[in-house]
Amino acid sequence: MWIYRKFFKKEKGMTSIKLFEKGTNINLIVKTVGNSCNIECSYCFEKIKNVKESEIKPIDLEKILDSIPITCSLVFHGGEPFLIGYKKFAELLDIVKKYYPEKIISVKIQTNGILLDDQWINLIYKEYKDLNIEIAISLDGTEKMNAYRIDKKGRNTFQSVIDAFKLLNEYGISAGILSVITRTSLTEVENYLQLINLIPNIKFVKMNGLFNIINNQLTYNSILPSEYAKFIYNVACKYIETGLYKRVAIEPILSIIQNINGYKSKYCNYSDRKCFNYLSVYPDGKIGPCDCLSIDDFFIGNIQDLNKNQNINDYVDNYLVKEDTNSLKKIIESCKECDINEFCKGGCLSQRFYFRNNKYLLLDFCKSKHYLYNKFKIYRIRGENNDKL
Ligand code: SF4
Ligand code: SF4
Ligand code: SF4
Repeated sequence: MWIYRKFFKKEKGMTSIKLFEKGTNINLIVKTVGNSCNIECSYCFEKIKNVKESEIKPIDLEKILDSIPITCSLVFHGGEPFLIGYKKFAELLDIVKKYYPEKIISVKIQTNGILLDDQWINLIYKEYKDLNIEIAISLDGTEKMNAYRIDKKGRNTFQSVIDAFKLLNEYGISAGILSVITRTSLTEVENYLQLINLIPNIKFVKMNGLFNIINNQLTYNSILPSEYAKFIYNVACKYIETGLYKRVAIEPILSIIQNINGYKSKYCNYSDRKCFNYLSVYPDGKIGPCDCLSIDDFFIGNIQDLNKNQNINDYVDNYLVKEDTNSLKKIIESCKECDINEFCKGGCLSQRFYFRNNKYLLLDFCKSKHYLYNKFKIYRIRGENNDKL
């Protein structure tokens, strides 16, 4: 599987899962407009967070960047980041420019794509071309799969996203897609891959299962981890059979194959570097870990309380000794004796945290990882020159 060779970096020795790895690159998630959005996906996790609707201020962005001692990878996230408007976004990019590429090593935008137009393309790819910004657009798949991504009038946003890809393609720009795999996705494997194949400028795909919980039970449109694992495996079979891997990288398939072979995945779900290596900053100054963990459950502090010259590493370290994080530490601890921990790396800790009061879901989570391990172990490369992958 030659496209993947460039992602393969051999891991040295045994590693252990870390909530935070002090002194390494920080993934900075800028919650550009808090949880404001122009559409109303029925599974939206953002809307239930206690976040004030406003915009991140350039001065706050600068303050958090100053507190990062080494490097960071920055992503403008939402709600919908384009809601901030061209002018204010340009002001944020002016700040980014001051730190790029020495401190900020990469810049990405995660958008629902609906507001993308010529003016945004001009801003991102012409005026701020030097920042090499990458875009990822949320699209759950075919129109049927995309059924929960609806606008404020309840209409499926599928066509608007396809139009966004067409527009980018007119400018010769590639983008990624982020798909949430829901109950309606499970029977759509072939159609999903056909769609990916039909969009010429898709560069990468990330599939995330929908595991929303209400009263410790999965919501009606969510799926079991084991259903998600089967979906991944079925996608992988078609993906390899059709040769689509030559053009598009799909996560978590890439990471699974990397880990099966003892190579290092960069995707947190399959890596040792977990949730506090990803810091989310909100317009009201709140700082939390990866935004899959609600700021209501894990509140590290506020940008306003960062002293001048304060190092964000120390700030996070001080938070991690607090009881609030014991539940996450216990989750990590429970993986120590597991026979496949070097492959699984504990998965996504937010999923296991929100499953914590439902033993069946926790068991199903580990069952799904064993299923993936057993299905994918045939893709282990046996010799340096073995060209099976
Ligand atoms: S695009 Fe994102 S933030 Fe907006 S409603 Fe959908 S899931 Fe929520
Ligand atoms: S919560 Fe999940 S997605 Fe977020 S950093 Fe932790 S492991 Fe990764
Ligand atoms: S299978 Fe379960 S116990 Fe084993 S490493 Fe993965 S999450 Fe941890």
